[in-house]
Amino acid sequence: MGPGIDPHRYLPTSGDVQKLAVAKAIFHHGLHLEGKMSEILEKPRPGQRTLAVSKGIPESDLRHADEGAHDPHVWFDPIFWLICVQNVADELAIIDPEHAPEYASRATIYLAGIRKTHEDLERIAQAIPKAKRVLVTSHDAFGYFGARYGFEVHGLQGVSTASETSTKDVVALAELLGKNRIEAVFCETSVPSKGLEAVLDSVNKKYGLKVKLIGGDDSLYSDALGEKGTAGDTYVGMIRHNMQIIARSLGHPSP
Ligand SMILES: [Zn+2]
Repeated sequence: MGPGIDPHRYLPTSGDVQKLAVAKAIFHHGLHLEGKMSEILEKPRPGQRTLAVSKGIPESDLRHADEGAHDPHVWFDPIFWLICVQNVADELAIIDPEHAPEYASRATIYLAGIRKTHEDLERIAQAIPKAKRVLVTSHDAFGYFGARYGFEVHGLQGVSTASETSTKDVVALAELLGKNRIEAVFCETSVPSKGLEAVLDSVNKKYGLKVKLIGGDDSLYSDALGEKGTAGDTYVGMIRHNMQIIARSLGHPSP
């Protein structure tokens, strides 16, 4: 899946199916992020290894969606993502034992970078006034982020984008924004913004409140990396970009 592609809705092409069939190993998310690909990803062929990269995150730390499924967006808690990175490094060392020391040493460097980024994000988040830490986005991708950094989060759609937005969802979110006088909502790079636009329209009509729509280059990276050369072309880049945009839009003095 390339930059900006929504994994919840992605349907594998025949080329993808062929690649997966001949792959030595398959790394997949493990909490049904790739909702339309579970069958191919979870059924290894003889001689093939598959790894659910999110394995080992304690069940008690996983968030649940209304439908009883797990919230798959664990990468928004960098502390959980450390577990996933370690899983990948360990698996690579098993597949390619000759280079095991290199995988281990690079993982150590990468993990340290994620820890450092997490500390920076924590500092930025804490400087945003507590009452302003309300994050409203297109879909419910930021539950782990909210829990880690102290934000209340709301999405127009649930933890998956696979179902359509209903009028009821639009009305409910408009009410939340209007009653709480929320100043800004955020587009995501992998989800069309028209749902949020409908909500803002409704808030304006009903409450006379003009809510800012943070989009374009300031859209948040939720379920996909950015194009090469953008702030979000790496994991660390995307979570830094998100926090800076959120802080700037919610009244942080100098993110
Ligand atoms: Zn998502």
